[in-house]
Amino acid sequence: MITAIINARIFDGENEIGVKTVLIEGETIVSIGGEVPEHAVIIDAEGGTLLPGLIDAHVHTSVEGLRDALNFGVTTELEMMGGFTKTGREGQLKGIEDIADVRSAGMGITPPGGHPDELMPGDGEIPDFVLKELEKMSEEDRNAMLAAHAHDHGEAPAVTSREEALAFVNEQVRQGADYIKIMIEEGSVLAAPGLPVLSQDILRAAVEEAHRHRKLAIAHVLTAEASRQAIEIGVDGLAHLFIDRPDTTPHLVKMIADAGAFVTPCLVLNSSIIGNPATIVANDPRVSSKLSPEWIETLNSSFSTYPQGSMEDNYRNVMDLHRAGVDILVGTDVSVPVPTLGGLAHGASVHHEMQLLVEAGFTPIEALQSATSKTARRFGLNDRGRIVEGARADLVLVDGDPTVNITDTLSIREVWLRGKRKVN
Ligand SMILES: [Zn+2]
Repeated sequence: MITAIINARIFDGENEIGVKTVLIEGETIVSIGGEVPEHAVIIDAEGGTLLPGLIDAHVHTSVEGLRDALNFGVTTELEMMGGFTKTGREGQLKGIEDIADVRSAGMGITPPGGHPDELMPGDGEIPDFVLKELEKMSEEDRNAMLAAHAHDHGEAPAVTSREEALAFVNEQVRQGADYIKIMIEEGSVLAAPGLPVLSQDILRAAVEEAHRHRKLAIAHVLTAEASRQAIEIGVDGLAHLFIDRPDTTPHLVKMIADAGAFVTPCLVLNSSIIGNPATIVANDPRVSSKLSPEWIETLNSSFSTYPQGSMEDNYRNVMDLHRAGVDILVGTDVSVPVPTLGGLAHGASVHHEMQLLVEAGFTPIEALQSATSKTARRFGLNDRGRIVEGARADLVLVDGDPTVNITDTLSIREVWLRGKRKVN
């Protein structure tokens, strides 16, 4: 069966290329700009813009999270710590069709008691909000969520030495991790100062071991100082934007640019850390109509662990990096629906992140590139992120023109995942 999407303006992942017919056959985009074959199923997209499926480059997810993501046109989530390595996907996601695709770092490298321990409720018990969610789920979803929860609660050993770091990386690779995550977090902006951090020597060994396996090494860092440490040991990307702006920032920006590292700012998270709830997003009917009350409550909350920070500094940091040629990727750091991890929701926050990038000074097209082709390229996901012949037919059709007005990305009309039209 061939589907022809006609009369849509096309953003192909790089640029707006005008109104063209896109043909989908099976799971694949087979033509752009060709004739409509006789027996094609026609989708008239008049007044709409067709985008590649969006990619969230920083999540911690579950079956529910992946389902919410897809509802918002996010066809791929990249987990920066969690259970959805190749082994996890085969065990937990087989046969589930209405969810976004996912890649994962597996567990992150951290010392005993290190980040993200401070964010977890005590003793690894299952928090109330999770129990409440579990009651509503199918058995399949329940098992997947419990497995994800177990992963989030320190089943993997913490690292204390070079040897353990190497073993840890090898274990993640054995589980089918798609990249490796390291933690450099001393807690000052998360209201947990004094968190233990592994030595540069141990972390460097982990990065080198990741590279030996041809995996990207990605660092959790929230401050300029931690970012400097991460670049010094050779990471390929930073999973956050430094939230502070010390005098040494121009030097740091140059270091990151010279290293060729990417940065996933997660401005939505930094905004929440500073104390801003995502109220505007939560109140948008295009968002609220798609989310559970728990997620709306979460969007309306915030981390608020670093109220002395400012979005102005964050915007200047991200624009300095952008102008220096650093690849900026759209990510959110969304995880579970709990107000202390507030300001975030699966899928919805990807749209919010693009809005914040535009507020910082990105053009709408640059923000869209950061949520599609750029991320695909940096993560070696060469089958997606663009509307080109041969790519996976992961597509989002929205009303209006987000290449001019970025908030139009939320006006979702249709979503295709691997050529299959999502049932609304
Ligand atoms: Zn994270």
